[in-house]
Amino acid sequence: MNLILMGLPGAGKGTQAEKIVDEFHIPHISTGDMFRAAIKDETQLGIKAKSFMDKGELVPDEVTIGIVRERIEKEDCIKGFLLDGFPRTVPQAEALDHMLNEMNRKIDFVIHIDVDKDILLQRLTGRRICKQCGATYHLIFNPPTSVGECDKCGGELYQRADDNEETVNTRLEVNIKQTKPLMDYYGSQDILRTINGEQEISNVFSDIEQLLGGLKR
Ligand code: ADP
Ligand code: ADP
Ligand code: ZN
Repeated sequence: MNLILMGLPGAGKGTQAEKIVDEFHIPHISTGDMFRAAIKDETQLGIKAKSFMDKGELVPDEVTIGIVRERIEKEDCIKGFLLDGFPRTVPQAEALDHMLNEMNRKIDFVIHIDVDKDILLQRLTGRRICKQCGATYHLIFNPPTSVGECDKCGGELYQRADDNEETVNTRLEVNIKQTKPLMDYYGSQDILRTINGEQEISNVFSDIEQLLGGLKR
């Protein structure tokens, strides 16, 4: 099961990824998470990525493609993987197809979580994330049981540096521009499946489960 989660920032990719991983036991590969981890560890990659991320711009394709290649070649991806936030440009999609071809593999579905851009600002500015386990919450739409504390592990919740109104606006603009050509790319391969992301979190997941049911062994 090789899957891609697509959707604008705030569409619910990370939230649904948590659920997909729990049920289907495939590794969650989030380029955003990988960049944030590199920034935290102050690696070369982190230093490079930070200047782009702080502005809400995309990290250059060659950097991003390189880290994904390394990741999907790892042993735990043999049974499948869930890509979240990659590819975001057509050159990234082409590079992915190329590497999968070499590995004799292919993408089963591109799950596009569709949400109108007007809803996304509120989703992103209210997002909170667990420092310890990475679980995602929302101050209004998906609040933790006790304020500032993760339900799953008790970890402290924080707000991402780029989830402020100014950077969010740039991110939305940048990503909206990339979405159409990417949808055309996957639409022509007939693997694109669009899910209504403007439903409750559990209902979005039901739709995804229904789609993936056929792929389960
Ligand atoms: P992405 O990974 O696509 O950027 P997230 O999964 O982090 O998006 O979700 C962005 C914010 O919106 C989070 O605060 C999350 O709790 C909230 N959220 C996710 N899905 C929904 C939904 N279906 N309805 C309302 N809020 C949602
Ligand atoms: P979002 O919640 O906006 O979907 P992510 O956590 O996926 O955010 O990404 C955060 C940032 O990391 C992006 O704004 C971008 O700078 C960088 N990034 C993540 N994935 C990619 C990618 N595939 N290509 C280029 N830059 C990326
Ligand atoms: Zn946690």
